[in-house]
Amino acid sequence: MRDLQALTRPNIWNLKPYSSARNEYSGHVARVFLDANENPYHAPLNRYPDPLQTELKGKIAVMKQVAEEQIFLGNGSDEAIDLVYRCFTNPGEDNVVAIEPTYGMYQVCADINDVEYRPVLLDANFQLSANRLLAATDAQTKVIWICSPNNPTGNNMDRNEIIQILEKFDGIVVIDEAYGDFSEQRSFRFDLDKYPKLIVLNTFSKAWGCAAIRLGMAFADKEIINLFNKVKYPYNVNLLTQREALSILQQQDQVSAWVDVLLEERTRLFEAFRQLPCCKRVFPTDANFFLARVTDAPSIYAYLVDQGIIVRNRHKVSLCKDCLRITIGTKEEDDELLVALRNYE
Ligand code: PMP
Repeated sequence: MRDLQALTRPNIWNLKPYSSARNEYSGHVARVFLDANENPYHAPLNRYPDPLQTELKGKIAVMKQVAEEQIFLGNGSDEAIDLVYRCFTNPGEDNVVAIEPTYGMYQVCADINDVEYRPVLLDANFQLSANRLLAATDAQTKVIWICSPNNPTGNNMDRNEIIQILEKFDGIVVIDEAYGDFSEQRSFRFDLDKYPKLIVLNTFSKAWGCAAIRLGMAFADKEIINLFNKVKYPYNVNLLTQREALSILQQQDQVSAWVDVLLEERTRLFEAFRQLPCCKRVFPTDANFFLARVTDAPSIYAYLVDQGIIVRNRHKVSLCKDCLRITIGTKEEDDELLVALRNYE
């Protein structure tokens, strides 16, 4: 068994992190701030934000039913993805294994960090196989990437296969649940105590309607969160983002209502899309988008762009020949798409 230290880059394990002005006093009520070379005018934007986002984490902990020490907040979940590489993989030496196709940033961050990326194809139903993923690992494999519901395929990954990976892989397992709010699948964040090397990702960019504020979450054992906190930029989540997130957290009913409407609209669009002459197949989805195989994805994509309608062309992605990925929009937006495609010849 490799313990967390054995899985961590030695320089990161030994890193003495930057200590920011706002870190160094605690347990005292501060009134006069002459510590951080800020401008005393133009409150509240003149002050550095809370580096550890304590108030926000308190609220997220209640909502997500995890401990505050099990939460990392970043500049989108993309920040957490990059931190996984920077904390656990030695450039030029280690490798990671991932399902294929999946979200592109796992590979981009591997390339940026000079880490070998080992994609393992999903099966014809876009399902993963624990045995095949495990067979792709070796002594230098530090991380396995799973995305569920998966992007771009839209479907949940099989829970029992994921559990087998968690039980058998002696390293970090990341489960990206960016689209989890649209899925019936139970979140793996409830299993953090059982699997100390599990990291679950979440984001405010999808169901929470806050892609613009850039706020992502990672849930993991507190030792992993401590590593992330050592490596992250000191003030990685700005004040405006923290404020906006606190505000949307008070509107959970609104968020649930959006999710309900989108799920209903998903059924409608999915059914209408499959009737289109240009549609060969729609793939089952557990997210706020679906993948569809069409007669000629590159030319249909170009035709839609001409009409001012942008979908995602996934034609060049493994297993996704002639596939478009369609995000569920408002009823009006989706109707525009349907009308345009009915007129496509
Ligand atoms: N994970 C997945 C699976 C995604 O599809 C995306 C965005 N498309 C992200 C993470 C990144 O999300 P964020 O906006 O939180 O960086």
